[in-house]
Amino acid sequence: MRVPITAGNWKMYKTVGEASAFAEALLNDSASLAEVELIVCPPFTSLPALSKIFEGTPVVLGAQNMHWETEGAYTGEISARMLKEVGCGYVILGHSERRHIFRETSEEVGKKVETAFGNDLIPILCVGETIEEREQGNTESVVHEQLAKGIEGVDSNNAVKLVIAYEPVWAIGTGKAATPNDASDVIAFIRNLYADRFGKPVSESVRILYGGSVKTNNVYEFVKDESIDGTLVGGASLDPASFLQIAGETRRVYS
Ligand code: PEP
Repeated sequence: MRVPITAGNWKMYKTVGEASAFAEALLNDSASLAEVELIVCPPFTSLPALSKIFEGTPVVLGAQNMHWETEGAYTGEISARMLKEVGCGYVILGHSERRHIFRETSEEVGKKVETAFGNDLIPILCVGETIEEREQGNTESVVHEQLAKGIEGVDSNNAVKLVIAYEPVWAIGTGKAATPNDASDVIAFIRNLYADRFGKPVSESVRILYGGSVKTNNVYEFVKDESIDGTLVGGASLDPASFLQIAGETRRVYS
């Protein structure tokens, strides 16, 4: 069985103090979320503090980005080794805000994925089309390009560990989520591409999430679809009660 994930992407929100208060509140309430893997991805500055707070708990820490080189003259960047050192298990790569605001290419994302695995971090590889690309009927070709280049350097040992997040750009932060059927169709397409590259058993084991305006009141519709292995949540992950409720709705499907 694929263990479902509820992952929170905090983007550029919360100081260390605010992040620590969130983490304490989360642990106070997280009675039994054993069936769902909870991943919290705060800004870099909060990683060391949250790593201490989450130590020995089931909550896993993730970062929101990294460079593809292990070290070097890259002012303002952060490396996989540095993230590993402060307790990260995951790193979000290729988020649409990185691709569209910071112009990251799929080739760069692919290099990051390879470096993350090389440093024992699990990438959460984000793919998804813009509204124009969807309206022009290009969703599959865009997702294909992003996925193929993103996993170019992944070997079969690591293929099963990767987490993929289908996040249509037009659904992120807009309050307009995709329909569960649309998400499920694209996720099936991704799983088929994965099967072509790594074989059916691996494609049936890899976890694929949906992300884009997931809230407490719509998450169940996504996660009850058996092809959707959880959610990557932005805005609604900033409040511990809402984040826990999203994880709880996810857990409901599996209990
Ligand atoms: C995200 O940032 O990955 C995201 C899905 O944001 P939101 O849930 O706010 O749409």
